[in-house]
This record gives sequence, structure tokens and C-alpha cells, in this order.
Amino acid sequence: MHLTQALHTAVQQDPGRPLTIFGDRVRSVAESADRVGRLAAGLRALGVARGDRVALLGGNSDRFHESLLGVAWADGVVVPLNHRWTPAEIGFAVRDCGATALIVDEALAEGVRGQAGTLAAVVVMGDEGGSFEELIARHAPMPDSRRGGDELFGVFYTGGTTGRPKGAMLTHANVLASAWGSLATGRFVTPGGRLLHAAPMFHLADLATWVAALLTGGTHVMVPAFTPEGVLSAVQLHRVTDMLLVPSMIRLLAEFPGVREFDVSSLAHLIYGGAPMPGALLERARSVFPFAGFVQAYGMTELAPVATLLLPEEHEHGGLAGSAGRAAPHAQVRIVGEDGREAPRGTVGEVAVRGDHVMRGYWGQPQETSAVLRDGWMHTGDAAYMDEHGYVFIVDRIKDMIISGGENVYCVEVEAVLNQHPAVAACAVIGLPDERWGERVHAIVVPAPGGEVTAGELGEYCRERLAGYKVPRGFEMVAALPTSAAGKVLKRTLRDERRVP
Ligand code: ATP
Ligand code: MG
Repeated sequence: MHLTQALHTAVQQDPGRPLTIFGDRVRSVAESADRVGRLAAGLRALGVARGDRVALLGGNSDRFHESLLGVAWADGVVVPLNHRWTPAEIGFAVRDCGATALIVDEALAEGVRGQAGTLAAVVVMGDEGGSFEELIARHAPMPDSRRGGDELFGVFYTGGTTGRPKGAMLTHANVLASAWGSLATGRFVTPGGRLLHAAPMFHLADLATWVAALLTGGTHVMVPAFTPEGVLSAVQLHRVTDMLLVPSMIRLLAEFPGVREFDVSSLAHLIYGGAPMPGALLERARSVFPFAGFVQAYGMTELAPVATLLLPEEHEHGGLAGSAGRAAPHAQVRIVGEDGREAPRGTVGEVAVRGDHVMRGYWGQPQETSAVLRDGWMHTGDAAYMDEHGYVFIVDRIKDMIISGGENVYCVEVEAVLNQHPAVAACAVIGLPDERWGERVHAIVVPAPGGEVTAGELGEYCRERLAGYKVPRGFEMVAALPTSAAGKVLKRTLRDERRVP
């Protein structure tokens, strides 16, 4: 199957239904399909041939949506880029995948000038026209070849949390497998519903919901960037049924003073994931959105992206708090020990995942690819255990685990305890080199506004709740933590800054 197939079916069955809503602009299925066909023809005319990479750089918008489909319609390979990257990082990705064309928001176009690399064409999405609209006006829709299947849909760069981002090659079949499997639970995106794109559309987390809504006749509502007020008013105004958020966005919503003044009763599903979710925040969020079914997704770019899901009813059982759920219908999940064999239930090992959603590999990096893809299993680099009913509990990234005096310390567990302290706004736990213990546990804490706390108090708080070897040996107060462009805490930066060269 080809991703655009869903669009053709929609044109046949329900051409007048609104497909995209961006600000005051509503476009029907028929209008959207017509524009996508024209855009594809325009890209062809600019020299985009089958398999050519087309980079896409922009905030959330209906044009972003049209670009994702237009590149696929023209048989190109879309490469969505993170607009929070620096011009040099954008230039790196453009050269890395050898993109020949770039579709870019007018507001971002200036910043990437000089990063041309291999680019032969730049298409500008401007609100008062721009070459994007010119292409659409000038060209008649081209026929859609609808090859799809095992052809590449896109190259998606990973978050860059553990190192330089890698370009995961995902086929149409990959992203469709993840979407169909997630939909099969009946608790993902509401068929025929209204999906709000609040998280950045360049990231695969949001794209997972985009594909699911496309397949099931949904309407896409876009806000250009995440703001608590913008999201809440869009939910109220458009009677949004589903949205996907990362934990840091949920925190901003839950802490937004006016949050309870908005009517959010239309929300059927609030899907979250992408990073560990503090338990207290989850409970707070559930009280703010009492009507929504909470769905946790664990996955990664390389898995197109969903591996496990924790469904709304599974949130009810206290015992499952902290679990990332069970294998989604399309995914086979197991925990492997250091010997490469499946670890006994309850024992921590590495999460490995197999299925039709597993990426083809990293663009241009055969060695990195064979390091993680073995016998069809994607080795995620995440440490977790599985209980007797198949529930997966993520404990840490393997690269972040601390080994102190021969004992494994999972940062996520220590962070969860610190996060419960009322004077802690955010924290990160890392290992620092230690002559006696190999590594020692070190906590870096951002105090809550107006909250005052001493290292001694935090140490005491941890000692009451954690085994001795897990209690941080040092506490450090900072104003803010360094985060990646995707909003995740950069532990490697924290470690590097604190290691004596
Ligand atoms: P890079 O691979 O470039 O270092 P990244 O791993 O952050 O960056 P992504 O593919 O965006 O890039 O993120 C996937 C990772 O996010 C997973 O491997 C896991 O560590 C974390 N993650 C995703 N979902 C969850 C979840 N529900 N709970 C805990 N961690 C999660
Ligand atoms: Mg990763």
C-alpha cells in the first residue's frame, strides 16, 4: 500500500469533508488532493525524480501536510527536519541524505541560506504566495504512481539525545504497519475524528497519529507551534477528539493557570510518550483531562515509531503505573540479556523489537545499522524488564545507566523519587567517575519557583525512599537543564561538563 491511497479513497467517498484546518483556513478532501497532485507535478518539474530526497523544514501547517503527501505522490523521499536545529545542523542533514530539493517556511528560509549543499531547488511556503503556491497554481495534477510498499517514504532523523542524529530509512510499509497496528487496539486515533497536531509534525511521534488519521477518515487540525493556550483553545473550538503530546508539553498544560476554564470534553484520547512520564504528572494530567482516555506509547524513530502501548483501561490499575504497556499488535517485543538470549521475566535487559515496522537501516551508515539490526530485531538501547503478563517497564537508556560498586543504578528511578519532592521542578541523575566505586550517583536539580531546598534535605528524602547505593552522593542546583532540539535532557552534555579532562 501507498500512503496516498488513503487520500484517493477519501476523494472517492467523501470529497467535501474537511481534511485540514489551519487557523481560519479549512480545506476539503477534494481540494487538498487536488493541491497535492499539483504540488507533485511541480516537484517533478523542478527535477525531483523517483527516490530523490526532498527535505522539509517548517512549523505545523496544512502546507506541511500537503508536502508530506506531495513528495510521496511524486515518488520522492521526504526528509522532515527539526526547525529548532541550527543552520549548521540543518546543513549536515541536507548533505547527509543528499537532498536535492528543500521545501521551507518563508520565516525559516533566510536562516538556511548558505547551507545549500546538494540542493538544486528551494520551494518557499509563504503566506502571501511564495514558490510553493506558484507551483500549485502553475501545474496540473500529475497521476499518482502509487508504488509504495517497500519503497522509502522518508528518511527521519533521530532525536540526537545520545549523539549525532541518524537518518532512519522508513518505507511506506513501515509507517503503515505501525499505524494499522496501533489502530487495531481501538484506542489510538478516533476514526473520523479530529486530530490536533500540537507536537511538531517533523517528529515521528506526531507522524504516527497523522498516518492513523489519514487512514481512518480524520480531520487534521494544526497549531503552528505548541503553546498551552493555543492548544487548549484549538481543542475547545474544533471539538478535537485526539492529540499526541510529549511529557514536557503535558507539564506545561497541567501547570497552565487557566487550564480548567477550557471545554476539553471532546477529547477521547490523549496519547503521550517519547520520554519517561513522571507518575505524579500523569495523575495530575488525568485530573485535568478527566474525559480523555490516556494512551502511552513507547517507541522510537527506527520503529516507525510504536512498539508498545498502555491503553486507557490499563491506566486504572495502580500496579501498572510506570509501565509502558504491552507489545502493540504489529510488534514483537522481547527483553534480551547480555548473552543475547531472552531474559527471564522481571530481569532487566535490552528491549529488542521485530516486525514490519522496523526501519530499513540508517541512511549511509551500514556499520551503525548492523550494530542495532540483527536477525530482523531492532536493538533499542533501552533497558527494561517485562512482567509475567508481557507489560514492559522501561528503566533507563543503557547509555545512561550507572554502575556504582558493581550495582546497577537506573537514573530514571532516582529521578522519579526526586521529582516527587515539592521543591524540585526538574532533575537529571548522571554517573560521575569515582576512584572507589567506579561511578558515583550525582543529581542535578532545578528548584521549583519559590521552592528552597538543601542538598542535605534532598539526600535525606532519597535515603528514606531508595536503597543506599542509589542515593546521590552529590546534589547540584542549576537554573535549567540542557535539552536537545526535541526537548529531551542531554545527559551526555551534563556528563561531559562535569568530567575532568
Ligand atoms: P538518538 O537516537 O539520536 O540519541 P532519541 O533516541 O531521543 O535520539 P527518538 O527516536 O526520538 O530519538 O526517541 C526514542 C527514545 O525515546 C527511545 O529509545 C526511549 O529511550 C525514549 N522513549 C520513547 N518513548 C518512551 C516512553 N514511553 N517511556 C520512556 N522512554 C521513552
Ligand atoms: Mg535513539
